[in-house]
Amino acid sequence: MTTTEKISTVNYHLVKGCNYGCKFCFANFNDVKKQVPFKAQKRMLEIIAAQKYVRKINFVGGEPTLLGKRLVDLVKYASKLGLTTSVTTNGSLIDSRWVKEISSYLDILTVSIDSATDEINRLSGRCSKKEELPTLAHYEELASACHKYGVNLKINTVVSKFNKDENLALFINKLNPIRWKIFQALRVEGENDANFGQCEVSDAEYAEYCNRQIASVANKSIVVVETNDLMRGSYLMINPEGCFFDNTNGGYTTSQKIAEVGFEKALSQINYSAEKFVKRNGEYEVGNKNDKSGLYVKTRHFRKRQRERNVSDMEVDAVLSNIKCSFAGKVLIVVGKSFMKLNHIRIQHKNLVVMLDRFVLVTVFFCENLCELKTKNRIVLL
Ligand code: SF4
Repeated sequence: MTTTEKISTVNYHLVKGCNYGCKFCFANFNDVKKQVPFKAQKRMLEIIAAQKYVRKINFVGGEPTLLGKRLVDLVKYASKLGLTTSVTTNGSLIDSRWVKEISSYLDILTVSIDSATDEINRLSGRCSKKEELPTLAHYEELASACHKYGVNLKINTVVSKFNKDENLALFINKLNPIRWKIFQALRVEGENDANFGQCEVSDAEYAEYCNRQIASVANKSIVVVETNDLMRGSYLMINPEGCFFDNTNGGYTTSQKIAEVGFEKALSQINYSAEKFVKRNGEYEVGNKNDKSGLYVKTRHFRKRQRERNVSDMEVDAVLSNIKCSFAGKVLIVVGKSFMKLNHIRIQHKNLVVMLDRFVLVTVFFCENLCELKTKNRIVLL
């Protein structure tokens, strides 16, 4: 197995700027002189999509929505290249209209929310330079839009000295994300070490915070706890200059430019551990809206049933991995088996609704227009 074969997700940090000034931020990219132009970013996506085992791309920053329409175009392009797409944002520059517009191409929207209290957000710097920040209603609007338009919502929370005593779970319950990742603030030399004394939480404080949230969150299966140790070396990251970088040595170690030396060679110049990626449960799957091998969109109803039956995301993933979709001539063939606790899954595609129920089942969808099916394929879990 080559190194590339161990990869499923790439985090592409498109921009070094941000409209916020979080004191624990480790994505300032102080050493990066300039980000690659739009055309080169698209070329980078082609290189990433050409790697057989890369399935998902996460667009990160700085703040990626500062790119405006260019970000939307990159998400569309990545989706059409067959990648599952994800954007991680502070959420301040987007609204429900933005979610609606991008929803045909965006599989996951990750919004960073550390606190439901303005004062804490201002103290930690999670606000604009003028100390402006979104209202809680704004985050609720984004969450509703995700649920309405079929984009999987994720929340990222960084635990620091500023928010360590808060119980954020009650607000998270309102947002109803598919995944809530709780990070321990991480020191990265050259990025946030100047302020880190104000931010740092001990392992015990971090564990206490996580336990408090887990006790209050309605759906415990959404919580992913990520300690400093799990964060180091478990993310495959590309910086705004188009180089891999890793955080295993305290600061950043950077490769040569991927477009110049190739994916494999650049990858060999940094430390990335696929084992740690799997260990931190990075390999969850939501499917790509434009991937002809199948798209799985969980409806609100499906998530509700998942909660009621206390089925974890990992169990759903195991079920979905047993459903295979493929094209043969003018038909889409869906094969499913082994549905465990879920009992049944209804799959809807266009006008067809198919019940898969504890049996190996083959379903054939007849399509009028194969091209349309390939580009607009949506399979909805009801
Ligand atoms: S919003 Fe994200 S990128 Fe911006 S300063 Fe905060 S942590 Fe850094």
